[in-house]
Amino acid sequence: MAKVLTALFGGTFDPIHYGHLLPAIALAKEIKLAHISLLPNHIPPHKPQPEATTSQRLAMLRLAIENYPIFSIDMREITKAKLDKPSYTIDTLKAWRNENGNSQGLAFILGQDSLLNLPTWHNWQTLLDYCHLLICRRPGYADNTNDPFLKKWIKRHQTNDIALLHQNSNGSIYFANTPLEDISATEIRQQISSKKSCETLLPAKVWQYIQIHHLYGA
Ligand code: ATP
Repeated sequence: MAKVLTALFGGTFDPIHYGHLLPAIALAKEIKLAHISLLPNHIPPHKPQPEATTSQRLAMLRLAIENYPIFSIDMREITKAKLDKPSYTIDTLKAWRNENGNSQGLAFILGQDSLLNLPTWHNWQTLLDYCHLLICRRPGYADNTNDPFLKKWIKRHQTNDIALLHQNSNGSIYFANTPLEDISATEIRQQISSKKSCETLLPAKVWQYIQIHHLYGA
């Protein structure tokens, strides 16, 4: 059976915006991904909450991907959510492996900011036992890290070989040459609350949804 490289793109998506969508689409083209699953995360009650509810974040994801058949939504973190537990990426990857076995390829997509922040993630050094990491460029974030452990870990696992990502099931870090989109959900929420338009930063139907539901102070 041919190997399929499944790609998961995790995030809070509060709201989803073109800074998520456009780099992910470019990444798919660059490394020949047939499909990307957006993976909205669960945030437990004791953590700072997203401003939109889980069902609103999900509704916006559904609207955002209507015109982009390359995307689907993976509901596992929000449906299997335990009220008091965060959705750790490592647990999601383990669950995926339990369901799909070890021979299929799995990749997890991250922005450069998230890569720099990786040492704060639960069991981050074991992530590559389960997946590849695909890194999208993000303006405003350094290309290199000052963290010596992260630096060494990246160096040990980095590859430019796209074929390798498809041949091996896990274990590599790939830095993609994706477009720089200077957009963040935090900035969108702030702009909306100060009554500024963000129409060009996200799909029209997501913008309309935000207006109709008066999200983020709209
Ligand atoms: P916030 O501003 O609330 O922190 P965000 O815009 O960073 O949100 P998230 O949902 O937290 O969005 O991000 C999900 C993933 O998308 C992360 O891996 C993040 O690095 C990546 N990402 C978000 N915005 C961009 C962007 N403009 N360019 C590249 N990657 C991005």
